[in-house]
Amino acid sequence: MKITAVEPFILHLPLTSDSISDSTHNITHWGVVGAIITTSDGLKGYGFTGTHAHLTSDRLITACIRDCYAPLLIGEDAADHSRLWTKLARHPALQWVGRAGITHLALAAVDVALWDLAAKKAGVPLHAHLGGARTNRLEAYNTDIGWLSFSQEELLTGSAMAVEEDGFTRIKIKVGHDDPNIDIRRLEAVRKRIGGDIRIAIDGNGKWDLPTCQRFCARARDLDLYWFEEPMWYDDVGSHATLAANTSIPIALGEQLYTLDAFRAFISAGAVAYVQPDVTRLGGITEYIQVADLALAHRLPVVPHAGEMSQVHVHMSYWHPASTILEYIPWIKDHFEEPANVVDGIYKLPQQPGASTTVLPASFERYGKSLG
Ligand SMILES: [Mg+2]
Repeated sequence: MKITAVEPFILHLPLTSDSISDSTHNITHWGVVGAIITTSDGLKGYGFTGTHAHLTSDRLITACIRDCYAPLLIGEDAADHSRLWTKLARHPALQWVGRAGITHLALAAVDVALWDLAAKKAGVPLHAHLGGARTNRLEAYNTDIGWLSFSQEELLTGSAMAVEEDGFTRIKIKVGHDDPNIDIRRLEAVRKRIGGDIRIAIDGNGKWDLPTCQRFCARARDLDLYWFEEPMWYDDVGSHATLAANTSIPIALGEQLYTLDAFRAFISAGAVAYVQPDVTRLGGITEYIQVADLALAHRLPVVPHAGEMSQVHVHMSYWHPASTILEYIPWIKDHFEEPANVVDGIYKLPQQPGASTTVLPASFERYGKSLG
């Protein structure tokens, strides 16, 4: 299974709404930036990272794949994905220019493509290639109803529809207004509308500081919140440890952590309860497994952040024993041969060989961008 070609690509896919915002981002498209790796036996592996569809920075990722990683991969045996991960991630020249960020996002895309190839070569879905599903029921939680840019009325309507019509028992709502009392009022209204049995997680996207979070958590104590995600600046271990020690609301984080070492720092400090690795931000599936195992060793639940909108994480979550529930955002699923599929709040187990990352040709034609 010799690697004969590594072709980068950029797709900018429209969202289900015209645009959405959380406390720190506003986007109109999701960037699917990745690589197709072809082998001598004719197989094609697809892998990608997720971006905010900023073409200039997306091209930095594809340039890294094309100019730095492809020459290191051509002629190699694709089955050696673990060795190849080390070859790229620990390359003596490349690790000087980035052990996180652009090079790591590019590494994620390549690594996922290699795992997709391995599962396709075996003729089974990725979850089966990894060792088999641990459960027959993976519950989804809906994030797409809770954007900060939604009015309170839109928030209430969307939450009620998700619960009453689509069968979700879990939702996630964005917080992070300049005045946290607005968030409290929105959450109180949602809780009143959908009742006490539905699990509500919240996500601050790193906006607030420690005093604001402490005041917010004190006021939110009676709302029975499932977790508070990214309350503060992404790299601030100490403040998260302080908050975790002073609130009954569990802390969730990890979507902006690029390495096993970063996760170890938060877990060691007692700064996180729900661990949120992402195959598109870590160095792909290889490093995701390392983080999930680390969480398992600390008996912490793994609830991935879905930078790939759960196309790959559905396999990881059905398989890895530390997994519990999985995020659902339906922005890009229809662009894949086998879409991540939720029915009555439960993820369907993927059936096709591979990692569910094979993009439809029509999507490349319609939404593909020039690599520059
Ligand atoms: Mg988040």
